[in-house]
Amino acid sequence: MDYLKDTYRHQGKRKLLIAELEKLGIKSRKILDAFQAIPRHYFMDLALDNLAYTNAAFQIGSGQTISHPFTVAFQTELLDFTPNQKILEIGTGSGFQTCILCELGAKVYSIERHQELHLKADRMVKFFGFNARLKYGDGYKGWPSYAPFDRILVTCGAPGIPSDLKDQLAIGGIMIIPVGEGESQRMIKVRKTSDETFDMEEFGTFKFVPMLERRVDYKEK
Ligand code: SAH
Repeated sequence: MDYLKDTYRHQGKRKLLIAELEKLGIKSRKILDAFQAIPRHYFMDLALDNLAYTNAAFQIGSGQTISHPFTVAFQTELLDFTPNQKILEIGTGSGFQTCILCELGAKVYSIERHQELHLKADRMVKFFGFNARLKYGDGYKGWPSYAPFDRILVTCGAPGIPSDLKDQLAIGGIMIIPVGEGESQRMIKVRKTSDETFDMEEFGTFKFVPMLERRVDYKEK
């Protein structure tokens, strides 16, 4: 990974992006600092190097995208976690969001259904020296052997809230999940109030690649 270079030019552009995130309403200084610490361009194709600090989603291979920086920051803020809490992420993708959560001190478990992306993200996590656990598989089922989780973050558009994920959320825990099958999804914050009760709150409309069930490595288009 010697080709990963963080130049003054990258750092300068990153500062501007962070100022933009702040303008868009991200308040947590810690989250903004994590965006400075984790160079987004490391997670993108070299050909896209110049665009890494624009607030947009980009192709990362296997028909998938790295989320908008604002979406990553917004979901992270909604998660409202403290260091050392256990977070399950569904949709590792590039691993950028995974590394942001690690930088903020969380114990991260992350699942990706594309093996190629999973392997690449695993290398990135190790490059930074984080000890997140990454798994290649279907996130619909969650990761029962490490449950319960204090937080669950879904980074793909789900048709509904998978019951296994609800089961694996700790009581008092929070799940952030974009729900909707069409072009766009509603950002939902689910708080588990008892074994069977959940409070739901909605936080606007976003666009995500779909969450696909049981179709590990299935190629879209
Ligand atoms: N957090 C990532 C977002 C990647 S896009 C980033 O910023 O890079 C969402 C990812 O969810 C895609 O890589 C897609 O392959 C994955 N995904 C979709 N359905 C899934 C499922 N059922 N289980 C695990 N991963 C899934």
